Amino acid sequence: MLAYIGLGSNLNNPKQQIKTAVMALHNTKDVEVVNLSSLYQSPPVDDSKQPDYINAVCEVKTHLTALELLYVCQDIETKQHRVREKKWGARTIDLDIILYGVQVVVSKQLIIPHPEMMNRAFVLVPLAELEDDLKVPVLGPIQDLISELGEFELTKL
Ligand code: ATP
Ligand code: CA
Ligand code: CA
Repeated sequence: MLAYIGLGSNLNNPKQQIKTAVMALHNTKDVEVVNLSSLYQSPPVDDSKQPDYINAVCEVKTHLTALELLYVCQDIETKQHRVREKKWGARTIDLDIILYGVQVVVSKQLIIPHPEMMNRAFVLVPLAELEDDLKVPVLGPIQDLISELGEFELTKL
């Protein structure tokens, strides 16, 4: 199965946090990172005084189920000392499953495609960098989703 994982960080050397998380994914049994987007910088979504975010998307080849992959992501977050404070608060690392093949998942723990992806330039733009003619299950062509975003602030590093 091919899956896309979105990574984000805005604390404790964000670029390094993302590299560390990608390495950790790659070093996980039954997970192979096959592609990684550029890093992108953007202001926090809630306009608060948090530092800017660094985001990227990676593509993994995996034999794990979507739920197993979520647990791997959460384990990496814990190892990189993510502290769960308020929703959308500053964090050392966040790993979200954006897509898991063409599978649609709706459960208490997991929603795929990621429910906010269509609203987030920092997800859609790096995803399109990896696969510019991607058809997102339920939501449609990635380029259409980017066109529908409206204005956004995102810097490719
Ligand atoms: P957002 O989900 O809006 O990006 P967040 O990443 O800050 O916000 P978290 O606190 O990291 O939110 O995650 C909250 C919960 O979201 C997790 O416990 C997880 O069970 C659930 N979740 C649902 N769908 C997904 C998904 N596709 N990828 C990762 N987590 C998910
Ligand atoms: Ca997130
Ligand atoms: Ca998350």
